[in-house]
Amino acid sequence: MMYVVITGASSGIGYESALAFAKRGKNLILVARRKQRLEDLKSTIAEINPKIDVVVLPADLSDTKQAHDLYERTKKYDLETWINNAGFGDFSPVAEQDLSKVENMLLLNNVAMTILSTLFVRDYSSKEGTQLINVSSDAGYTIVDNFVTYCATKFYVSAFTEGVASELQGKGENMKAKVLAPAVTETEFSYRAMGRGISDFPHSRTPEEVAQFMLDLYDSDKVIGIVDETNQFKLKDSFYPYIKKV
Ligand code: NAP
Repeated sequence: MMYVVITGASSGIGYESALAFAKRGKNLILVARRKQRLEDLKSTIAEINPKIDVVVLPADLSDTKQAHDLYERTKKYDLETWINNAGFGDFSPVAEQDLSKVENMLLLNNVAMTILSTLFVRDYSSKEGTQLINVSSDAGYTIVDNFVTYCATKFYVSAFTEGVASELQGKGENMKAKVLAPAVTETEFSYRAMGRGISDFPHSRTPEEVAQFMLDLYDSDKVIGIVDETNQFKLKDSFYPYIKKV
């Protein structure tokens, strides 16, 4: 009984990715703050495939202690893949940022992601078939006006995960580390980032499409799966230069 952990599974990309992995018969550990949403998703998955075990672990991952506690709670399960998807953005010029929102964003997008990645790599890197997938963004490779701090959090996700991928490969470990970098996607993200929908954006993807990109990345040997400036999904090798220890 091996499990795929998905943080931020109560809506959007994480929710649809949980359904996509469920259709493949994967047992799941679902994480987010909204417990009822996760319980409802568990019921939906039971209708799709009653043989799958779905574990609901509510947590506020902006709280560092809860991030550590979450990992402890997963220790009784045998894990195959860990997907750090939970994240949010803030759309405002730097001088006008709400610093309490920004602090929570850094704690979720970067601190929790680093803690959970580190603990998973520490325990599972030698295990065949394991994967760490961290959800960055096209904004993890390009700086966007009025989105500077969010972009910087996603540059961190991309650089950290690409670095982990190189380090694992250099050590001959079995685990693969990968970056999913979606572009504009029709989820709750824009409401939290800028208080409105994305109907005025020239193009976007549905979370169902991005969940399929997640599976495509999961199935591939590439490090990056990115929705590029033409709104196409591409699988790529690492982007950031990497210097091996001499
Ligand atoms: P979403 O619909 O807002 O989903 C975000 C998920 O993160 C929700 O399940 C939310 O659940 C969870 N979450 C938020 N704060 C949390 C916290 N403190 N602790 C635990 N879970 C928390 O947005 P989405 O678009 O699917 O976002 C998923 C990822 O894709 C994010 O990392 C985002 O940066 C990235 N992304 C999104 C877009 C886009 O345009 N939508 C583009 C590129 C990258 P609760 O509220 O229940 O906790």
